[in-house]
Amino acid sequence: MAAGRYAPSPTSDLHVGNLRTAVLAWLFARSTGRDFLLRVEDLDTDRVRAADGTEARQLTDLAALGLVFDGELVRQSDRHDAYAAAVTALGDRVYECYCTRREIAQAASAPHGEPDGFRPYPGTCRDLTERERAERRRTRRPALRIRADDAWVAIADELMGRVTGPVDDFVLRRGDGVWAYNLAVVVDDIAMGVDQVVRGDDLLSSAPRQAWLTEQLGGTVPAYAHVPLVVNPDGVRLAKRDGAVSLTDLAATGRDAAWVLRWIGESLGLSAEGEAVTLDLLLTRFDPDALPRTPTVFAHSPA
Ligand code: GLU
Repeated sequence: MAAGRYAPSPTSDLHVGNLRTAVLAWLFARSTGRDFLLRVEDLDTDRVRAADGTEARQLTDLAALGLVFDGELVRQSDRHDAYAAAVTALGDRVYECYCTRREIAQAASAPHGEPDGFRPYPGTCRDLTERERAERRRTRRPALRIRADDAWVAIADELMGRVTGPVDDFVLRRGDGVWAYNLAVVVDDIAMGVDQVVRGDDLLSSAPRQAWLTEQLGGTVPAYAHVPLVVNPDGVRLAKRDGAVSLTDLAATGRDAAWVLRWIGESLGLSAEGEAVTLDLLLTRFDPDALPRTPTVFAHSPA
């Protein structure tokens, strides 16, 4: 089975940028004959948020745009056993790490040509003796990291071309017991048969790690398309504070889901200003090569 997916985190209502990415993921999947799957990434959201209906509103908003998903919804909070099994499968390359963030930041490491802002884990806990581990375990709850031997990985991105990046000993499970994003995404994409990952380009730097981990777990690296984000008129990534940016808030200003879909079509260069569109119409016009490669400004939200 070939499939693409949309994988929102239920932390807040989807804004037009998130919705545009969801439509793009659907267009990429459908235009290549793939199924389109939905995964709720709710590992890092506390119970209060989960209970406040954010997930249900996200699903309602996706449906309001006409997005239909294949198969059962997958919720990461139901998949703890799968993440634990993956860590077991990775064997003795997984090790406990007792470092605090501050300790990692303080462990000076000379840059080795890594991208800006990439601070590789310095390896402090990589080769501790069993005795040292036992001692540290008494005072700290360990995170789990994977030994990556300073790999550099290249991925092929539909929009960005060839992207290479470093893979350090990244975290698989946090010290507080929460499974890490990179582990969960990879385990789930393999299990769900996802072979096409379309998402915001803020996640591009995670792709080399995820591609590497996919191979370590015996999976096939998916095709990637990291799409430019939607920004506010100041050029800053769109966020809730930018006023009416969710379907609910836009509806209160007289703009319905059809208006949002028209805006998405225009912003992708797939429809003329004001032209009525459906997802199926956008699909007939979809051409990945013609997609904008720069951020799109959303300037329609009275604050
Ligand atoms: N859950 C992530 C987000 O909402 C997306 C993860 C992914 O697509 O790999 O930003």
